[in-house]
This record gives sequence, C-alpha cells and structure tokens, in this order.
Amino acid sequence: MDTRGKKTAAAIHEEIAREVDQWLHVLFNGRRKTGHVDLEASEMMMRSAMHRVGAAGLTQLLRFPVPPAEQRTAPCSCGHTAHYQELRSKPVLTAVGRVEVSRPYYLCSHCHNGQFPADVALDIEHKECSPGVRRMLAIVGQEAPFDHGRQQMKSLADLEVTSKAVERTAESIGADIAAREQQQIQRAVQLDLPIVMGKSVPILYVLMDGTGVPVVKKETEGRAGKTAGEPAHTREAKLGCVFTQTKWDAEGYPIRDPDSTTYTGAIEPAEEFGKRLYLQAWNRDWSLAEKKVVIGDGAEWIWNIAQQHFPGAIQIVDLFHARQHVWDLARKLFPLDKAERARWITIEQDDLDKGKIEELVCSLRSIQVADPDLAKEILTEAEYFAKNAERMRYPKFREQHLFVGSGVIEAGCKTVIGARFKQSGMFWTVRGANAIIALRCCQMNGEFEDYWESRVA
Ligand SMILES: [Zn+2]
Repeated sequence: MDTRGKKTAAAIHEEIAREVDQWLHVLFNGRRKTGHVDLEASEMMMRSAMHRVGAAGLTQLLRFPVPPAEQRTAPCSCGHTAHYQELRSKPVLTAVGRVEVSRPYYLCSHCHNGQFPADVALDIEHKECSPGVRRMLAIVGQEAPFDHGRQQMKSLADLEVTSKAVERTAESIGADIAAREQQQIQRAVQLDLPIVMGKSVPILYVLMDGTGVPVVKKETEGRAGKTAGEPAHTREAKLGCVFTQTKWDAEGYPIRDPDSTTYTGAIEPAEEFGKRLYLQAWNRDWSLAEKKVVIGDGAEWIWNIAQQHFPGAIQIVDLFHARQHVWDLARKLFPLDKAERARWITIEQDDLDKGKIEELVCSLRSIQVADPDLAKEILTEAEYFAKNAERMRYPKFREQHLFVGSGVIEAGCKTVIGARFKQSGMFWTVRGANAIIALRCCQMNGEFEDYWESRVA
C-alpha cells in the first residue's frame, strides 16, 4: 500500500473506531439501565452507524489526488485539449448514505466545456446518486407510485430521497432501456439479428391487446374520446406478450409453461408496436417454434400485425371476446325478454363454440328488425364474424390442445399497466409512461439485472 493508501486506511479505521465506541456505549449502557435489549431499535441504530462508517470510508476512497504533471490534460469532445484546473467536490448519495466525491476538474479553453473524467469512470456523471442507489430507485420506481418508492427507500435501505428523485431516476433508466430496444428493433427489421441456434419450442404464443393510460391534457389535444364530442383522457398503451406451451392436462386443456411469459409494450402506433413485438418474439426463438399462434380480440391492428410480422402463425380470436359480441347483440335484440334472449344466446353461442361461423353469420343476416340502426348493427356484427371465421374454428384449435382465450394478455394489461399506471390522481406524459413501461417490462421479464450489467460494458 502506498502512503496515500495507508493514510486513507488510517482515517477509515479511526472513523470506524469512533462509531463502534459510540454504539457500544449506547447499547450496553441501555441494557445495563433497563435490563433488556430492544432488538429493533438496536439493529436500526447499528445499521445507521454502519452506514456512517461506510460513507466515511467511501468519502476517503473517492478523494482523488491532484493529477501528476504529465496527466493534467484530457481530450475534449470538440477535438481540442482540456486542462486540469482544480479539485472540485460534489455530494453523491450511495447505498451507505451521502458521501463527498472530490475529483479533478478539466476545462477546455477552446469550447469552454468542463469535464470530470472520474465521474465517467465512476458512473456518476451528471448524477446525484451512485449506480447502486440508482438501481434501487429503478426497482422501486417501476413497482409502485414514486412516493411509495421514496418510503421504501427510507424503510428498506435507510436512505432519504425525494419522490422526484425516484421519478427522475426510474424514468431516465427506463428511457435508456427503451432506446436500447429501439436499436435492437432497427436491427431486427433490417434482418440483422444473429440467427438463433437453440432448442426448438413446441408451441409459441404471441398475444396483444390495448389498454388506456390516463395522460396529462397536452397528450390528448386533438384526439377524440370514447364518448363522441368529448375529449380523450387516455392514450392507448399496446401490450404484447410471448409465452410457450409444452403440455396439456388430462382433459386436453393447454398448460402454459411456468415462468415463460415475457412482456413488451408502449404508447405508440400499431406499426411501431408490430416491430417491437416481432423483436420480442424473435428473442423468444420464434423462428424455432414448431407451432406458432397469435391470439387477440377482433381489433384490426392486431391482425394487421399478425399478417405482417407473424406469417404462418395460427390466428385465433379470443373466444370470450367473440362470445361478448353475441351477448351484446342479444341485449339489443331482446332488451326486455330475458328468457327469449337466453334462448337465442344458447343457439348462437353453440354455433360459435363449435366453429360453425358460416351458420352463425347466416342466422345473423336473416334477422329482420324494424329499427334501421339496429339492422345496421346486426350486419356489422355478421361482418365481424364473417371476416374472422377462420380465426374462430375453436374445435380445430382445441383438437390441437391450443389456448383459445387471451386471458394471459388481459391479465398482463392489469398487472403490467393497470396496477402501475391507472391509480387515482395519476396523469402521465407519453414520454414518462413509455420509459416506465419499458423499465417495468424489463423487470417483470427478469431482464433487469442483465441490462444493468451490460449497461456499463
Ligand atoms: Zn473543447
């Protein structure tokens, strides 16, 4: 160890000794006086003491020396050379509390840009939190409202942060994840991804759905709401998931492979989302799947994406969604006569469940009603079934032990989007929401640790 190292070590030892003396005194005095140990108070006190010791140690460690004469220049991004000026210090919040970093400052006399090369090396450039703390903020920030994150940081890590700091950090990390995804998406659409050589997957599913995210006013300007004449209050987040199936149960019903579901999503046009989902499926070995399935509701954008990015996949309209169409129409045809309505549903739904879509369409088209609006609606519904007939051959799908419902993506909309983005009083910007969606999907897919490791490399 050099002289500086020895001095640093001595200073840290001194700090530790002081802290240890202090808590030994308090704890043992306390026990002598009261006759018992308050474990929780003791452990919390000791954690704080250990943090202070750690912070003192880190502060010593992060006290950079004045650079030697031959290292007093640094290349500037403008092409000229920056020169060493002085040591400057800034506070940084670390996993053991606030520390002071003192490092050389370089200034370029040509473009007047200053820089701290040490900050880049330490991964704290323009940051008030250390990488360790930023990782924590990302994890709590994707999980719950930012102010909950602040509270969790206090109770779990004994660190004081503002909810704004949780928000800023989680958003900036999410934005970085999203930007990296965009780079990958560009490579994917240019067919520039490495060919996967892995074990083949028996059945691979791609599901997609849309769900509203409440947004600030400026994000909905000029957009019509769900109710005619009223402005929109939400923007549609599109969510996709990919999962695999290897087995079915004794009755032939499909079983989803445990922990095989991954999500991806964003508030973006269908065209962009299609590429995103394609990348996700590619990363899940789409090209190696023996059987490929796309499930969605009747929304047109879903089938456009299926056509464009997942050709050759079996397309299935969620059975429950299709049934809903029958039920909704029944309510309009028989608003009062519940018995007649039930009888009608039984007949039509039976056709639907049996995949006899042509019969169902025929039956719908033959309905005579006086109300022209209702007549038009019936034809629209008939058209919906006619158009999706091949996607509704449920017995054929069941024979192959396939899922015929989109329950997984609907649940995903609730857990990935709803639980985090639709709490009362929340209004998002599209940019902020997309960053947190990217971060949340990354965390839920179990990819966050890998991202964090690869980020520095
Ligand atoms: Zn410069």
